[in-house]
Amino acid sequence: MGAGHEGESVEACVRPLGVARLSVVVGRRTKILATLGPATDRPGVIDELVRGGLDGARINTAHGHPDDWRRQAAALRAASESAGRPVALLVDISGPKLRLLEDVLPREVLVGESVTFVGAEESPDGARGVAWPDLINAVIPGVSEIVIGDGAPRFSVVTTYEGEVRCTCIRKGPVEPRKGIFVTHSRVELPAMGGHEVEHAEIAAELEADFIALSFVRSGQDIRRLRSILDSVGSTARVVAKIERLSAFDALDDILAVSDGVMVARGDLGVQAGVARVPILQKEIIHRAVGDGKLAITATQMLESMITAPAPTRAEATDVANAILDGTSTLMLSAETAVGEHPVEVVRVMGEIALYAQSEPVYQQDIEAPVESRAEALMQSAVLLARQVGAAAIVVPTTSGGSARAAIKYRPQLPLVALCRDPAVARQLALDWGVIPALLEGEADSAETFVELMVSGAIEVAGLRPGDTVVVAYGSTLERPGSTNVIVLRQIAGAGGRTA
Ligand code: PEP
Repeated sequence: MGAGHEGESVEACVRPLGVARLSVVVGRRTKILATLGPATDRPGVIDELVRGGLDGARINTAHGHPDDWRRQAAALRAASESAGRPVALLVDISGPKLRLLEDVLPREVLVGESVTFVGAEESPDGARGVAWPDLINAVIPGVSEIVIGDGAPRFSVVTTYEGEVRCTCIRKGPVEPRKGIFVTHSRVELPAMGGHEVEHAEIAAELEADFIALSFVRSGQDIRRLRSILDSVGSTARVVAKIERLSAFDALDDILAVSDGVMVARGDLGVQAGVARVPILQKEIIHRAVGDGKLAITATQMLESMITAPAPTRAEATDVANAILDGTSTLMLSAETAVGEHPVEVVRVMGEIALYAQSEPVYQQDIEAPVESRAEALMQSAVLLARQVGAAAIVVPTTSGGSARAAIKYRPQLPLVALCRDPAVARQLALDWGVIPALLEGEADSAETFVELMVSGAIEVAGLRPGDTVVVAYGSTLERPGSTNVIVLRQIAGAGGRTA
């Protein structure tokens, strides 16, 4: 093990975290992403969420207006700045969701009733309108079903006649204006980047979003199109494909190859695939994403009852824990924080469940992910070494975030401190499982002083103590992306001493 040079002064300045926050942030490996909305717009709420350990915030472009999103993004950045902690901004592009028209008369529909849908700009008498002229061409009589909202009511398509889609209700429920509508076994699939999505991608770039999620992705082609739009406006946001169509699940390998991560969007996935299939689809999507070294976000109804209730149900707590045991990188809250009564408490509760779920040793196996590059081979060795010597942390300087991601693919069960020069890279690591991103300031003129710089920087963010061993993985050609080729062990010295 090497040692720092006597008399050499090394200035490390990793943005400090308050001690009170350390227990929340350092201990929990699964990250929390909360959707912003009217409930988080109340004064001080975003600050409280960030101080309480929130790792990222989502702006859902299905709701609100660009000026709301600008205000929310600014509030998040300010909260992150004052907490001295990188917090990610994810803009979720809502995608081509079909909706019933504004003029549809609200009514409870019962099983066995006949209902007619038309693709039109106005609902004719006695029919329910959908602003989609292709509706008639999309449905397959005797096969397709029309699903409203989260699954009720549901209609089987009986026949089509002169522009009308004639259906029978097979699950009762309310038909209301502007409700989402979905056609199963549709012959026509709307493109994920067809209309307002392009404008929303440009606004996301203007907000300097760290992540952009795309709804209703069909294949890798939708993601490539989003990327080329982002390239043209100079955005380096990481791209997340929302898996909510069965066609996306079927094209998962193609999508993973061109995305930085996926979201198990259980709301629409449940509508399209049927709720019964969601648990197994979730496991499969997470397993394949994490095995590919990609981000996996699990979303929707995780702590739904806390929209109004002060505590979750047992089933919800178990669902959160099971998503963690499935290997998810990030847990997402939707209405719970956007419009719920307890936005701060719900994040605290989710964090508490996460800490318990990760503490059981039987579930702490490193994922035996394949090694696909030199960087991954090196990082797998660093993770193994850390485990063998009982290290307290792994410390990785990272220019692009790639080295840190290569390490967490092997799920080290100890803090991984990613020291970044660029605040945007630190924010883009905020949603990655197990990573504590921090800013590294200060210069080093040799590899040895660079190691000293990193270790002293990691002490505070990872809560390291004298005597702790850390594994440092870095590049001997200092700070060049992809140059990581050295692994060293260091022991934290006592007060006033130096690492050894
Ligand atoms: C979902 O459908 O589960 C989802 C996350 O998407 P949205 O919140 O945009 O409906």
